[in-house]
Order: sequence, then structure tokens, then C-alpha cells
Amino acid sequence: MGHVFRNEEQRMAVDGFRRFLDKEIEPVVREYRDRYIPKDVMQGIMRKLVQFGIVTGVVSEANGGMGGTGRDWQTSVMLFEELVYSSMDISVVALINTFGAVLLERLAPPAIRERYLPGLLSGDLFLSMGISEPDVGSNVLEIKTRAKRDGDHYVIKGEKTWISNGDYSDMLVCTARTGDDPKRGLTHIFLDRSEHPYESRNIHKIAGNSQSTAQIFLDDVRVPVANVIGGEGEGLKNTLGLFELSRVYVAVQGLGVARRALDEAVKYAKERRQHGKVIAGHQLISAMLADMATRVDAARLLIARAADMIDAGIPAEMEAAMAKYYATEAAVKVARQAVQIHGGNGVTTEFLVEKLAREAIILPIPEGTSQIQQLIIGRALTGVAAF
Ligand SMILES: Cc1cc2nc3c(=O)[nH]c(=O)nc-3n(C[C@H](O)[C@H](O)[C@H](O)COP(=O)(O)OP(=O)(O)OC[C@H]3O[C@@H](n4cnc5c(N)ncnc54)[C@H](O)[C@@H]3O)c2cc1C
Repeated sequence: MGHVFRNEEQRMAVDGFRRFLDKEIEPVVREYRDRYIPKDVMQGIMRKLVQFGIVTGVVSEANGGMGGTGRDWQTSVMLFEELVYSSMDISVVALINTFGAVLLERLAPPAIRERYLPGLLSGDLFLSMGISEPDVGSNVLEIKTRAKRDGDHYVIKGEKTWISNGDYSDMLVCTARTGDDPKRGLTHIFLDRSEHPYESRNIHKIAGNSQSTAQIFLDDVRVPVANVIGGEGEGLKNTLGLFELSRVYVAVQGLGVARRALDEAVKYAKERRQHGKVIAGHQLISAMLADMATRVDAARLLIARAADMIDAGIPAEMEAAMAKYYATEAAVKVARQAVQIHGGNGVTTEFLVEKLAREAIILPIPEGTSQIQQLIIGRALTGVAAF
């Protein structure tokens, strides 16, 4: 698997989860290949995953999670890597619910946290994070969705796009403009879909269509001021704080996809025969496999360093950006090489590498594109912002 376990408890947690995924999740993933997984089926999956530390592993026991029993970011990224290895789609749902749970635990008013965090931890509820808009991607400062104050309520109007979990979502953390100052005018507002209704429409993508990525329409939705998360005007600061963690998770998505592509390529190279021997015996194939394996492990090491720093409470903005940048670009390269090793079979839907290559292409985009990660790394090196 490539993990470097720190202790026996970590090994048992990851091995046990791997066995569960092979037995119970892989068949579902095969059944729904490129098809939308209905919400009740996804709920059933999430209810099982949370028992292994997915979503729950980064929330403290005091708030109903499994954190504090040896489960930490380091262990959490290992578990998450195993999930991605089996399914990028399901990992997206888990990723968003995980960071929703982190946000609710750390920043939500107690009334919101106590009411909604248990549902995320049990796998019953789904959350979405709405930052991006049709005209707002890399530059979060340009958010246009407005939350106008009306007594003790906000009235929210705007459109969000690319929102993971959008159609599934029972709740939305909407980043809205509550003031004109570009940096201090953004606020996170919590919406319960049944009380503060919004519409969603799924977006069809090159891959990742077994889960929901959606447009979200907010048409004068009235939400109590008490639903502000993390303080009015603190939305930008809190988003950037969360990015440090969530980028490491997207890096793990790159790692999981790349590792699966490598394993599929190794298996194929040992079976497929050309010119009188298995293709693994051709030096150019062997070189390609060596290149892929080195990229997979380099990605894992960058992720492990960032997770270690986060566990130690050391700021890791640059290290998280490096992990995200490298691991997601590695996924694109490794998945492409895996297709190449499969020859013609690599582009058919009979083999997994075709799907992995499509999934990999997505990863350098969300949670800050590769270019944005490069700009963050450059700024950390020079102290000069080039954006
Ligand atoms: C599958 C998927 C899931 C997503 N999930 C969510 C979600 O749950 N919630 C959410 O809010 N958003 C989500 N997003 C949106 C995602 O965060 C944005 O797509 C991303 O930030 C890029 O924004 P954009 O697509 O508008 O591209 P743009 O910002 O328009 O960028 C276009 C191109 O220009 C480049 N570029 C932009 N600015 C600069 C610069 N200063 N210097 C150099 N190059 C630059 C970019 O790197 C890119 O190559 C998701 C996106 C995808 C694809």
C-alpha cells in the first residue's frame, strides 16, 4: 500500500478499512460506474464509512467524533487515501462532509453545531460549501452573492456553481457578501435546506458523475443572523484557514487515483504478452512503471509532511499547496501512463484506467488550480505576491 505506519493501531485501522472497502464498496462502485448514485444509496454508504473514521476522525470525541483516540490528520489522510483508491466519487462526498464537520465544530454557534454536527457524523446529512460563482473562481474576493440585512435576518440572493454535494445537500454554508470591503465583506452563512430553501441543478462533467456537482440558486432566501458561522466579515479569513486542510485532502485524491492507476498498470504489465514475453519485461514499460511509482511516493511524502505539520500546529500553507499541486498533476501524468501501458484496452470502458484518467484531469482544478498553488508557493518563497 505504501503507507509508513507509526503504530499498530494505525495499521489496524487502515488494513481493516481496506478490507471493508474491497468487500462492500468496490462492488457498488462497479455497479454505478459513471452513473449517478441516488441519495439514499449514498447515505447508506456514508453511514458505514463514518464508523471507520471517515468524517468522524477529525472531530473531537467531546463533539461526537472519533478524534482524540489516536486518530489524527496523519491517520485520517491514510484512511482517505484508501477511500479514494476505491472511489473518487464517494471521496468527494466524504471530503465536503469532513470539512463541513470541521467548520461546524470549530466555528459554528453552539446551537447550530449541536443541531447539525451529529447528522454529519452519523452519515445521515450532507453539506455543501458554496464559494464559487459563475463569474468567481480563483479570485474569491469577487464574490457577488449578496446577503442584505433585514432586521434579524439576512436575505440572500445569488448563484453558486460547481458545488460538490449540491443536489444531495441538506445544508449549505454559503459564502456571501455582507459588506463592500473586498476582504472584510465576506461572511459564511448556514442554510438548512428545509427551512431556507434553495434550488440545485446537477452539472454533467468529464468524470465524477456518480456524485453531485451542482449549480445552486438562492432567490431572496431569508436566514436568521444567528446562522452566521465564524463571525460577520470573517468569511475570507476562515475560508483560507480551511483551504490549508482541504488542499491536503484534494492532494490525497490525486495520490489515491495515481496509486490505483499504478496498481492497475502493474497488474496488466504482468499479464499482457507482446514480442514473446510479458510487457513488464520490456525496458520502456519498466521505466514507465518506475516513473509512476516514484511520483506516487513523492506525492505521499509531500502529503505526509503537510499532515504532520498540521498535527503539530505548524502553519503549512506552502506545504499544503506543494502537496496539492504535485499530487494532482502527478495523478494526471500517472493515469495517462497507465492508459499507455494498457494500449488500446486503456481507452475502453472495460478497464478502470480509462475512468481514472478522466478523474485525474479534474483534480488540478478545485480547491485552487495548479496555477494558484504555484502562486502561493512563489509568494512564500519570495514574499512577493504575483497575483
Ligand atoms: C469537480 C469540481 C468540484 C468543485 N467543488 C466546489 C465546491 O464544492 N464549492 C465551491 O465553492 N467551488 C467548487 N469548485 C470550484 C473550484 O473551486 C473552481 O473551479 C476553481 O477555484 C477555479 O475557478 P474557475 O473554474 O472559475 O477557473 P478560473 O478562476 O476562471 O481560472 C481559469 C484559468 O485561469 C487560471 N488563472 C486564474 N487566475 C490566475 C492568475 N492570477 N494567474 C495565473 N492563472 C490564473 C486558472 O489557473 C485556470 O487555469 C469545484 C470545481 C470542480 C471542477
